[in-house]
Amino acid sequence: MAVASAPPRSSSNVSTPDPFDNLEESSPNPSGPGHPDDERFMALAFEEAQRAAGRDEVPIGCVIVREGVVLGRAHNLTRTHTDPTCHAEMLAISQAARRLGVMRLVGATVYTTVEPCFMCAGALVHARVKRVVWAVRDPKFGGCASLGTVLSHPQANHQVEWHEGPMADASREILQTFFRSKRVVPRVSPGDA
Ligand code: ZN
Repeated sequence: MAVASAPPRSSSNVSTPDPFDNLEESSPNPSGPGHPDDERFMALAFEEAQRAAGRDEVPIGCVIVREGVVLGRAHNLTRTHTDPTCHAEMLAISQAARRLGVMRLVGATVYTTVEPCFMCAGALVHARVKRVVWAVRDPKFGGCASLGTVLSHPQANHQVEWHEGPMADASREILQTFFRSKRVVPRVSPGDA
């Protein structure tokens, strides 16, 4: 597995009560500036995260957009379906592909409230999306900047642009509230959803 280019996390994170305590500020975006529509579409993804919280699911939401049209929107449903693959991104990808009738989401932008895990990042590369925007990093499961570079690995056959930060405070807060309510053990991460 490729080594992450992000700076190593301090060992102090290991003992934090949840994955988003003491989360460092996001590093400067390495993929250029955000888009004027980023906040608007991330707000839709956050609505999905709120729906997940309402169902006692880890509150993560995702929206997939192309040319201003929402092609898929979903929230984490791993507990509902007893299925570890039911991450918000995976469900939104499937929705968008079914809607378009094709397996490639060329030109699409994906908004997700948390940095995609390795599984979802891999699926996003398979789907050939153009760009991924996330609100906050997942320091213990993120496969795009925290623990890996799946979206942008130079040896992969497709590279995805990425940007982070829109609605970071709200997305972090809803996660922290959820994990604290569950009193989860320190090693649990959104990727464990
Ligand atoms: Zn995932």
